[in-house]
Amino acid sequence: MSTKLSKSDYEKIDLSLTSDKEGIVLMEAPGRINLIGEHIDYNGGNVLPAAIDKCIYYTLKKNDSATISNVLSKNFSEGFSFDITIPEKPGDGWLSYLSGVLSEIDKIAPGKVTGFDCVLDSKLPIGSGISSSAALLCGFAKGLNELFELNIDDITIIKLCQNAERIFSGANVGVMDQFAVVKGKKDHFILLDCETLEYSTIPAAMGTNMLLLLNTNVSHNLADSAYNERRAQCESALEIISAKYPQVKTLVEATEEMVEEFKEELGVDRVKRAMHVIQEQKRVEATVEALKNNDFTLVGELLNASHDGLQNLYEVSCPELDFLAAYAKNDDRVLGARMMGGGFGGCTINLIDEKHVESFVTDASKAYKEACNLDLTAIPVKTNNGVSKIN
Ligand code: ADP
Ligand code: MG
Repeated sequence: MSTKLSKSDYEKIDLSLTSDKEGIVLMEAPGRINLIGEHIDYNGGNVLPAAIDKCIYYTLKKNDSATISNVLSKNFSEGFSFDITIPEKPGDGWLSYLSGVLSEIDKIAPGKVTGFDCVLDSKLPIGSGISSSAALLCGFAKGLNELFELNIDDITIIKLCQNAERIFSGANVGVMDQFAVVKGKKDHFILLDCETLEYSTIPAAMGTNMLLLLNTNVSHNLADSAYNERRAQCESALEIISAKYPQVKTLVEATEEMVEEFKEELGVDRVKRAMHVIQEQKRVEATVEALKNNDFTLVGELLNASHDGLQNLYEVSCPELDFLAAYAKNDDRVLGARMMGGGFGGCTINLIDEKHVESFVTDASKAYKEACNLDLTAIPVKTNNGVSKIN
């Protein structure tokens, strides 16, 4: 059971944490992008995410209580006092995410966490596919790890945060977001095998090109149920295919020919989902090669093709994302663009020469306003290190 902090309690905690530096742990937890490899993390695929230079900032300090803790979100102008041994109900706002992390940590390091105060302040847009949720969970988990010297390794942190997000959001999320947020490396993408968690880093130098996110400002609140439905469709497609081809352990290992073979049994929707997964996996491999060869035109084409798959086969886009992706595709200043993240809102990711960013953003904003009657937010991003202690 939590109680909401009053404005004056809120200010007292904020002040004590931000003025007296003794015993304070400061953390920054980045959001993440995914260059390519969308909706294949939970199908055994390889993905190509990176942590970014937009972060949630945490200030944490132990307090005198055995179990009573206080947390504030400056973005939500909201704070709670709660007992860390009593879990919050799943789905009950942002505190339930943090409570989920505490429950998971307690399984690994029972009784090690005692009362603490925590303020968080975020520069990440929320619900825009940049994974503010993974940043929230992983930054908090790593912050507690530092504050209470729990010595939990990164992979365990990643998995416990994934588990907490699964339980407390109701979406059966994959592991990519947490992995990128924790293991990100400045100037690199992470090529991650989501099945084994083996990974390598791929240099992100792209000449004069850069990555630009365009936020549709449509929040992806439809995403959770659709996400679970897509996952279930992929799982049952795999079941049908692997019954005859037992060597196919994950959907990315199937071939387009196999999908054709089971066309009748799979039905239209599952055929489309499986085709996207198989083709997207190939695009990830091709993107890694193209990056190594400095072939950014090809990277752009692969981004465009990825959007096509997400729009028409996986069907997780929305009119606003489709408008922005098509606008970029038809504009010579942009090498390629696609929707990024779970879908149904959030951002497109655009590969564009630095010198065109300003003029392109001006024109795209105007066109977007006319077509969708919404404002566009442009977010230039650079790759970054994963969650870090900053003091
Ligand atoms: P995304 O991860 O794409 O930003 P999600 O819907 O997965 O979108 O996660 C957004 C949720 O994460 C918010 O509804 C809130 O519960 C939590 N959250 C993110 N940032 C903050 C913040 N600064 N303060 C409190 N909660 C936050
Ligand atoms: Mg999220």
